[in-house]
Amino acid sequence: MGPLRWLPLLVRLLLLRPPGARPEGPIRAFVVPHSHMDVGWVYTVQESMRAYAANVYTSVVEELSRGQQRRFIAVEQEFFRLWWDGVASDQQKHQVRRLLDEGRLEFVLGGQVMHDEAVTHFDDQILQLTEGHGFLYETFGIRPQFSWHVDPFGASATTPTLFALAGFNAHLISRIDYNLKEARQELQFVWQGSPSLSVQQQIFTHIMDQYSYCTPSHIPFSNRSGFYWNGVAVFPEPPADGVYPNMSEPVTPANIDLYAEALVANVKQRAAWFRTPHVLWPWGCDKQFFNASVQFANMDPLLDHINSRAAKLGVSVQYATLGDYFRALHALNVTWRTRDHHDFLPYSTEPFQAWTGFYTSRSALKGLARRASALLYAGESMFTRYMWPAPRGPLDPAWALQQLQQLRWAVSEVQHHDAITGTESPKVRDMYEEHLASGMLGVRKLMASIVLDGPQSPTSGCAGPAGHFVTVYNPLAWTVTTIITLTIGFPGVSVTDELGHPVPAQIQNSTETPSAYVLHILATIPGLSYRHYGIRPTAGAQEGTQEPAATVASTLRFGRRLRRHASHGASRLVPVVNDCYTVLLDQDTNLMHSIRERQSNRTVRMTQEFLEYHVNGDLKQGPISDNYMFTPKDAAAPAWEAVEMEIVAGKLVTEIRQYFYRNVTTRDYTYAIYSRLTHVPQGHDRELLCHRIEQQYHVGPLELNREAVLRTSTDLNSRQVLYSDNNGYQMQRRPYLAYSNNSIARNYYPMVQSAFMEDGSSRLLLLSERAHGISSQGNGQVEVMLHRRLWNNFDWDLGYNLTLNDTSVVHPVLWLLLGPWSVTTALRQRSGLALQHRPVVLFGELAGTAPNRPGSQKQEAVTLPPNLHLQILSIPGWNYSSNHTEHVQNLQKGHRGKAQADLHRVLLRLHHLYEVGEDPVLSQPVTVDLEAVVCGLGPMVAVEERSLTGTWDVSTLRRWSWATETGHCRGCSTFPSRSPEGPTITIHPKEIRTFFVHFRQQ
Ligand SMILES: [Zn+2]
Repeated sequence: MGPLRWLPLLVRLLLLRPPGARPEGPIRAFVVPHSHMDVGWVYTVQESMRAYAANVYTSVVEELSRGQQRRFIAVEQEFFRLWWDGVASDQQKHQVRRLLDEGRLEFVLGGQVMHDEAVTHFDDQILQLTEGHGFLYETFGIRPQFSWHVDPFGASATTPTLFALAGFNAHLISRIDYNLKEARQELQFVWQGSPSLSVQQQIFTHIMDQYSYCTPSHIPFSNRSGFYWNGVAVFPEPPADGVYPNMSEPVTPANIDLYAEALVANVKQRAAWFRTPHVLWPWGCDKQFFNASVQFANMDPLLDHINSRAAKLGVSVQYATLGDYFRALHALNVTWRTRDHHDFLPYSTEPFQAWTGFYTSRSALKGLARRASALLYAGESMFTRYMWPAPRGPLDPAWALQQLQQLRWAVSEVQHHDAITGTESPKVRDMYEEHLASGMLGVRKLMASIVLDGPQSPTSGCAGPAGHFVTVYNPLAWTVTTIITLTIGFPGVSVTDELGHPVPAQIQNSTETPSAYVLHILATIPGLSYRHYGIRPTAGAQEGTQEPAATVASTLRFGRRLRRHASHGASRLVPVVNDCYTVLLDQDTNLMHSIRERQSNRTVRMTQEFLEYHVNGDLKQGPISDNYMFTPKDAAAPAWEAVEMEIVAGKLVTEIRQYFYRNVTTRDYTYAIYSRLTHVPQGHDRELLCHRIEQQYHVGPLELNREAVLRTSTDLNSRQVLYSDNNGYQMQRRPYLAYSNNSIARNYYPMVQSAFMEDGSSRLLLLSERAHGISSQGNGQVEVMLHRRLWNNFDWDLGYNLTLNDTSVVHPVLWLLLGPWSVTTALRQRSGLALQHRPVVLFGELAGTAPNRPGSQKQEAVTLPPNLHLQILSIPGWNYSSNHTEHVQNLQKGHRGKAQADLHRVLLRLHHLYEVGEDPVLSQPVTVDLEAVVCGLGPMVAVEERSLTGTWDVSTLRRWSWATETGHCRGCSTFPSRSPEGPTITIHPKEIRTFFVHFRQQ
């Protein structure tokens, strides 16, 4: 994201009076050289490497070596790793190690990317951070201690918690709502991101002032690039003569006073926003320092010049890393305000610039990113289970690990704040999609190889020669009962398990392909296990025959009903019933009418329809909507004139299909809802399956400058209060706020995994498999933005191809749960995970080969208590000693990792799913025996508790303590004291705990 987006804001802010609360005294400015390097956005990673990114590291390393006083902070690891592995010479590598030792080059944040905070899932945030930290620690023994989240569009309250867990001493953000900066929000405080973890994981937080992370590029006497003497990066190739556009005038005796005045004036303006005389002065911006030589050659004399007049100017200056600044600030021993768990979302830069469009932009990419992450999660645990206690077949572990590493990289990359946000150019989106798709292909191959590996066995009971095998892996650490859906080519089938027993199944015509059939199978799969099913064509497929055939669903059709003819009198209602709900559909409109929930015996009126915001793309006509911004002028209007309905009633699943037509006479529908209720047969676990109404949507292609929402209107007296999640980790309360302008857009919030609204007794919960924007624009209403297609004539958007002319059709899924608070509280977390981590179905990959029978390699199922989630089980492959001193000594001796992946270390992370006080039973601390958790991997020889990203032994981690108004916190300097635990551990509400586990090899 570029500096240009700041210009309107800067103009406004220059007119503002700063708070002026700073104590008297000379100012000490910390000049922190940095380059903001977006991993994607307008240019692909490869294009960026070629044009400037490689040159940043090459020239910075050389220039730092030339001046003892010079400093630089490095942020995004993806670019650094590409440079390190593919560009850097041995001499440069040697220089890097020396600069790190001397503290002149500092890695901050240390993730592969600077992840978005609004639409990313916290599992993926941890993954991308872990991926970068693992590399830094293995290669240099370095553990980043400060964050540098300068560009994400708004700040989530999950971030301070995760960064504290990763061992950071301070957190830095920048983009918060302009109103808050104008209202002189205190920009430094101690943040308690989680209400349950509270002081334990609080972290000092610095919000950048109004200038954000860029140095001013406009100074009075120069119309070029201010303090950027190296000018502007050039694509695709750096200019051969080294002369870049817009290079600032070199510092000379004639102009040095002017430069000094401009710098000092800016330092003083920034200082006025802070309580101490220490000022962070970021020197850099997007794609800077590709020619560090010219940068430092001009800044060196300028800093000397200012320091020689420090007394007169009232300002002294020094090069600094971010750590230098925070250390100096920490040493002042100031007492700070504490902030609670509220986030900084949404984010507006101007009255009509609400950055709430990107919550939905490029919905297809958002969906793919999450599916890739879920597949990786499954692949990781399946591979770990394959390797321990002993590899069960001839699979090459190095190849297997490579498949996982490739997908780890791709899933990390797409968490970037111009990636999963949908704010990138089309060619960069293609790059992310290619990386994800090829990573997914590799992991699916790996999973199929694991299934097919090992001794083959006779196939009695499984499918015969003409049939198919399907293998289904459950990646969650609980037994899951769910519906598996396959598309097959024949109308009559029987489905059997490994022992030849019939499995409940249902078949119906496909809505997508006329000659194909959809087969639903009721599968019950133990935790971290897979099961095989045989699918065999039957002759008759008649119900009531002796053969255990899949039952055939019957279809009821309801002709087109027009919106304008909707009556307001008594309705003719059609019920669809399962054990938990009765969904009533109105035959006069073909819309949903209401839902009766069995447990409370309450009927809630509920209708759903698609609406569109018609938005402006012409700058001359006023503010525009684009890939970032949502700027509706008017309320949303219905996007349909007629609806057709089909009810496909079956013994296992009943599907309600509603097709919405834009015009009365159109042949093709633009929108559809497929709602599915499951009828769980006796003897199967129905708790989760019965309680969800699965809805899959068909949305698009949209007309130009339309933003499509699904609005659900109910008679719940919600008082227009909505709850939506931060990154799938915790909920935020979102009361509707009336603004003097742009209220519709500013009441939009991100939903990453869940949202709900409620009244005194019932709650309507929505669960999601990808991020969307969500809002309550009326009492009892919730609307989910599902898709956007936009075009505008803003030169900058056109120049970079960032207008979001997205013509795709998207098929997002929501699960709806309705019920008393207590029931939905108990089900929310596990249902959310069941949607996120649906069993992996290996079908085509097995190509008719009979997989090995489970009897030959039987693994014990893994079952955790219902409030505890196995957040990861993997073999990371890092090659470093868990003992820090030993690791550093090894590095000094020249043993520099990477030689061979370490397959012995197993990474295990557990997450308590509930907040303190959320549920009388599930919110209790839970004690588990780790040996039992990972049963089947062999005898455990050692357990080490580690920081979130694995780099610290928590018993040696001493985070800084910052004084607050409520006193010095005891917990924030260290992790909560824990007795040296054996394999039995107690996990408290919302805790995330990370372990290295070692097993005895067999
Ligand atoms: Zn950026």
